Amino acid sequence: MRVRLAPSPTGKLHIGTARTALFNWLFARNQRGKFLLRIEDTDQERSREEFTENILEGLQWLGLNWDEELVRQSDHINSHRKAIQTLLDKGLAYRCYATEAELEEMRNDQKNRGQAPRYDNRHRNLSSEQEKSYIEKGRTCVVRFRIEDNELIQWNDLVRGKMIWKGADLGGDMVLSRRSPSDKIGSPLYNLVVVLDDAAMQISHVIRGEDHLANTAKQLVLYKAFGLAEPIFAHTPLILNTEGRKLSKRDGVTSISDFRDMGYTPDAMANYMALLGWSVPDGMDEKFTANEAAEVFNFDRVNKAGAKFDWDKLNWLNAQIIHQWHPEKLFEEISPILRDNNWQLPEKAWGIALAELIGPSLTVINDALEQSRPFFEVPLLKQDGLEQLQLKGAKTALKFLLEKLEEDPWNGMEIPKAQGLLNDSAKKAEVKKGLIMKSLRAALFGQLQGPDLLSSWSLLARVGQDRSRIRRCL
Ligand code: GLU
Repeated sequence: MRVRLAPSPTGKLHIGTARTALFNWLFARNQRGKFLLRIEDTDQERSREEFTENILEGLQWLGLNWDEELVRQSDHINSHRKAIQTLLDKGLAYRCYATEAELEEMRNDQKNRGQAPRYDNRHRNLSSEQEKSYIEKGRTCVVRFRIEDNELIQWNDLVRGKMIWKGADLGGDMVLSRRSPSDKIGSPLYNLVVVLDDAAMQISHVIRGEDHLANTAKQLVLYKAFGLAEPIFAHTPLILNTEGRKLSKRDGVTSISDFRDMGYTPDAMANYMALLGWSVPDGMDEKFTANEAAEVFNFDRVNKAGAKFDWDKLNWLNAQIIHQWHPEKLFEEISPILRDNNWQLPEKAWGIALAELIGPSLTVINDALEQSRPFFEVPLLKQDGLEQLQLKGAKTALKFLLEKLEEDPWNGMEIPKAQGLLNDSAKKAEVKKGLIMKSLRAALFGQLQGPDLLSSWSLLARVGQDRSRIRRCL
């Protein structure tokens, strides 16, 4: 059992491609088969090395490692050309000299008559004189493969069941190679190349998005022409945006590196992507690891209907995963954010304590930026903080607290000591403990929202930043 992902390096790793990769990977792991990677880089104008790198990095980040050496389609271009020559020699393919202008006119006529655009097979049976005269006129040509209108193409799709296509619905004789002079073969095109490469790599199952259904029908006629064994096909549903339309660049974030840069974790992405089109067996939790999913993955539970992208679910999964992390791991993950802001840590243990403190309030890793800021930059007083400090007794209580701290600073270590200081100051100012606590929070952090007060204060006390913040409010 061998499957493959065959991305074109014409853009960053798209979430749709990554989801296809994941389904291939899950199926391969489930069947104890191989998951292979082939970069389809024959479109020289649009392919870029930086996109190949982005795709490889993205797959590795997601943990979707491939089993054999990476294949680059462009390495096999000569054998692709040879295969086209074989089809020409057998009379299964022919050269078509129609110009772009002629084809355009043909399509316009079809449109005016309310017909779907298709090549009308006009050069299928040129005589050698006709061919000669086109060549003399200096016309270039493409190679086309004959598709009979009445041919029936069938396969059993693992997701969609029995599929039947008519040759007539494939847009006329199929182009196999780009335009070239008549004594050459232009660069071979996707449908031909993919068949040859999949066969060469001994791919047993082709798993890809349902936007490739018509390609599958075209590829099956080529399998037949070459006498190659057909793989089994599975076409996965499209990913739709929140309005139910195909997710596109206009929807903003669509590439895996964008999700990574926003602070999503690879585990949450893999978990969430598996749910885009696949449903877990009864009794299984919707939060799982890729290995857990691989144990039970099959195509019976892959839906035909498009899968709507649900940010709330992704966020929920991401938060769950972050909240499970050990503080040391969390600290490692947020460290780049602290570094980028030039925020200095007194020591690693302090950073780990910070990570532990803010961890429960993070949905994405990047939330650590705003959650950490008040520990490094003196915050402005927000409206609720200001109002708190205006309450009767608030400033008096803080004044008493500050006096005690100036006499005997708290090093942030023993929490009972801090509790004692708060109790004594509240008593002396004749205010409730709640009032001094809220007022202290306002003074230290500028607002009333935030994680546990004593732990937060402790972090500031450990770097000697608490007294100056209280002082500025008095
Ligand atoms: N290069 C094609 C794509 O990126 C591959 C499709 C396939 O899996 O055959 O859509």
